[in-house]
Amino acid sequence: MSQWVYGLVDMQSFYASIEVASRPEYALNRREEDDRTDPPLVVSGDPARRSGVILAATPEAKRLGVQNAMRLGEALQLAPHLIVVRPHMRLYLEVSVRIQRVIQSIFPLVEPFSVDEAFFAFPYPSALFPDPIAAARRLKETLWDVFRVRCRIGMGPNKWMAKVINNQAKQHPGGILWWPQEEARAQLHRLPVEAMWGLRKRAEVLKNEFHCQTIGDVAALPVHPLRHRFGPAWGTILHRWANGEDGSPVDARSFDVPHKGYSNRTTLPRDFFDREEIAVVILELLDEVCYRVRRANQQGRRLSLSLTYERLQGGFLKTKTLSFYSNDPDELYPQALALLDRWWEGCGVRAVSVGLDRLAPAQTQQLSLFRHTEQRRRLLATTDTIHERYGETSLMRASSLLPGSQLRDRTLRIGGHSA
Ligand SMILES: [Mg+2]
Repeated sequence: MSQWVYGLVDMQSFYASIEVASRPEYALNRREEDDRTDPPLVVSGDPARRSGVILAATPEAKRLGVQNAMRLGEALQLAPHLIVVRPHMRLYLEVSVRIQRVIQSIFPLVEPFSVDEAFFAFPYPSALFPDPIAAARRLKETLWDVFRVRCRIGMGPNKWMAKVINNQAKQHPGGILWWPQEEARAQLHRLPVEAMWGLRKRAEVLKNEFHCQTIGDVAALPVHPLRHRFGPAWGTILHRWANGEDGSPVDARSFDVPHKGYSNRTTLPRDFFDREEIAVVILELLDEVCYRVRRANQQGRRLSLSLTYERLQGGFLKTKTLSFYSNDPDELYPQALALLDRWWEGCGVRAVSVGLDRLAPAQTQQLSLFRHTEQRRRLLATTDTIHERYGETSLMRASSLLPGSQLRDRTLRIGGHSA
């Protein structure tokens, strides 16, 4: 009987790799299997100022001691010959979308997880997928051939294990690791407790209070003390994860905004519980979506908002059809907040997606006494030009300086190394 194999593909030093790939002078030297063939390059918020922060670095730059979030001046002291470039967020997002399409062309089920990660799944054994390692290698080679980006791939019997196995693939030559169903549990139980993805501080409690060294030790515990110490939800999840069980499906449609429109999604660095913080993220995503809709010379009248809750389990996708067409974030923002206030139950939010569809050409302007259409259109065109010339963070809304903002952070999570 065939089962499903679940995989996670994670792009390596994603933003820095895109910068290297877009410079023809490095093309001849680079080899997929050896990241030392990349130049020591960093992406920095403001290359003109040594006080700028390192947002992303190639492995070769990291070998010289450079780290993300380090000051540019400090990095240049360590490595005077560093190549310093400014970020191009729109390019990274565009490449991310194109990469997702390539993954979709190879596997029947794909779920984008972050800008540089995606889950996929396929039936095995099956006529199309007789050999999981060969399928993963095909994906890896295609991503290199088309985008000149390296990736790491972990595959196992469920999504959570795929994430754990992907981390283990670091030590694996070739960057591909598959644990077949029969051996997955035994392999998992040999790993240290810290290898359980998604636990954060709970790993310390498992070690210090429950005296667990390996995941196998956690699996051997009865579920009741876990539920007593961590609460019923987390106690059950810990017990199931340690036993290699995870029921969450890879669902391309789940909590994702419908196609034939524009959407933008971000996975947050931690669970957000504060309405104001979530609202800031929504506004930033909406800004980006509206920018793309304007560039396509379109406007839309159906707005969608999707929130994915803690541990990426559960959430909602809700839409609102408006009485007018728009591509103006200031006009759509109150509508998005109305969706938030109507449907959000106050749970911790881990991913947010905003979309606009039911599109029409932007020329079909509706006249209204209350919409200063022409004036707004010119203002938006001016801000678009500034963003294109000077980068996404050159002109930020004041709200992007608030604690919830992902706009600056998104540039800080480059390389996708934070969980
Ligand atoms: Mg990554």
